[in-house]
Amino acid sequence: MSEKVKLYDLSKCTGCRGCQLACKQWNQLPAKQTYNRGTYQNPPDLQPNTWMLIRFQEVSNGNGDVKWLFRKEACMHCTDAACVKVCPSGALHYTKYGTVALDEKKCIGCKECIFACPFNIPRYDPATDKVAKCDMCFSRIDNGLEPACVKACPTGALQFGDKDEMIKLAYQRVKELGGDASVYGDKYVKGTHMIYVLPEKAGLYEGLPEKPRVPLSVLAWKDLLKPLSLLATGGVLLGAFLHYILHGPKDTSGDQAGQGGGE
Ligand code: SF4
Ligand code: SF4
Repeated sequence: MSEKVKLYDLSKCTGCRGCQLACKQWNQLPAKQTYNRGTYQNPPDLQPNTWMLIRFQEVSNGNGDVKWLFRKEACMHCTDAACVKVCPSGALHYTKYGTVALDEKKCIGCKECIFACPFNIPRYDPATDKVAKCDMCFSRIDNGLEPACVKACPTGALQFGDKDEMIKLAYQRVKELGGDASVYGDKYVKGTHMIYVLPEKAGLYEGLPEKPRVPLSVLAWKDLLKPLSLLATGGVLLGAFLHYILHGPKDTSGDQAGQGGGE
């Protein structure tokens, strides 16, 4: 099964939020009351009921005026996903398309993925004691459809397809744009399955890490501590098994007799 990638060209995004609404609708995520906070940013951040949003940002254009930067924020679907590494219940897992999905039924609400994610994506819902995040519309792509956000985008800012093709398109577009334009997402954390075409330098976009890294504690857990703990658990089980082979099952008849005698 070929790896699928969502390509997001920020230079074509008009901030219409069609994608944000489509995500809500397809995933049946309930709306909540919002407030005018003197900004177009709505809601202010990702939430358990908002798996993707458009970030609105005003920056100087160098001529004393301001211009808008729009950025669609959602799970990046890392190839080497820290959230999958730390998830102790197997709730977070890779799909056959290379994307990262979440089995809500298996989530135990430990929040390990929240601390591990280099992009600050999963959100915890105290009402359900579970985390939530985008699964790149697995139910749609597994039925040959594109993700709901891609389907809804009226400007062609979002595309979906095979990984190699999407990365090729991203580099073509960066060449067309020139200046500070760059491809973001194919280099860090062994690549992601959401690729950005950034018209401006990565450092300019709020909340977008310039060089995303998996926290060292996560690498230590996966590469050192987890095998050791498994070894320790395995040692205990092996010891118990050997004891059973060498000495047979524990004879508790004497214990029961002793308990009975005390009554
Ligand atoms: S962006 Fe965060 S939640 Fe999404 S796959 Fe990567 S580590 Fe997991
Ligand atoms: S639907 Fe397309 S143009 Fe509209 S906000 Fe989303 S990505 Fe941007």
